[in-house]
Amino acid sequence: MTHLIAGNWKMNGSPASAKTLTSGLAAKVSAGVKAEIVLCPPAPLLAEVAATMGSGALTLGAQDCHANEKGAHTGDISAVLLKEIGCKFVIVGHSERRADHGETDAVVKAKAAAALMAGLTPIVCVGETEQQRERGETGAVITRQVQSSLPENATAANTVVAYEPVWAIGTGKTATTADIAAVHFQIREVFSALPGGAGAGALRILYGGSVKGSNAQAILATAGVNGALVGGASLDLDDFWRIIEACP
Ligand code: PEP
Repeated sequence: MTHLIAGNWKMNGSPASAKTLTSGLAAKVSAGVKAEIVLCPPAPLLAEVAATMGSGALTLGAQDCHANEKGAHTGDISAVLLKEIGCKFVIVGHSERRADHGETDAVVKAKAAAALMAGLTPIVCVGETEQQRERGETGAVITRQVQSSLPENATAANTVVAYEPVWAIGTGKTATTADIAAVHFQIREVFSALPGGAGAGALRILYGGSVKGSNAQAILATAGVNGALVGGASLDLDDFWRIIEACP
């Protein structure tokens, strides 16, 4: 399975920096690359990135979508529109959206369903908080989030799951490779029992949480890891490239 490396720029960047970063990456991938690379800039920069990335190995993703196709939802973005402007992926259920916007598993599930309906691949994020981890609830939280955040028609072919321990996002802390392997194994097991779970062995499960050039090789070589969702390090061309090059 080809590893998938998704760069989540969050609320960072400008038209100028988007152009510089994307053109730098496009130049590097033109020599050949082992991974599939997705750039997820803030929505106002999607067009800039799309225009700069060319038709090579880079693909476009968004950071969120609304559950409805259109309508009176000021400030929100429809999955259909994202598809029309060239997105192939959309992140849903990122812990920052779950925390900042009160998104529940049901909301995340509806957004993932809208993405699938529009022909986008949702990258559905799950992960435990530090308190949940300390209370020994990681397994239960992950099971609940996978069971409740994925639509019935999610399959290994049309959906990506990202395991992002909340305590590891933007903190410089990463889960141990043993913990990552155990949680990814669990996600695959839970997914296999869902309505679309046949062929769960082919489900792409990304790890996210302070992935950078210096730790990428160990994480990306871990059993059950099929790529990474990268925040901070995706804004640095050289570090992001080191992560891409670390793909086995
Ligand atoms: C993320 O935003 O999904 C993320 C993993 O961030 P960081 O790599 O900065 O921890």
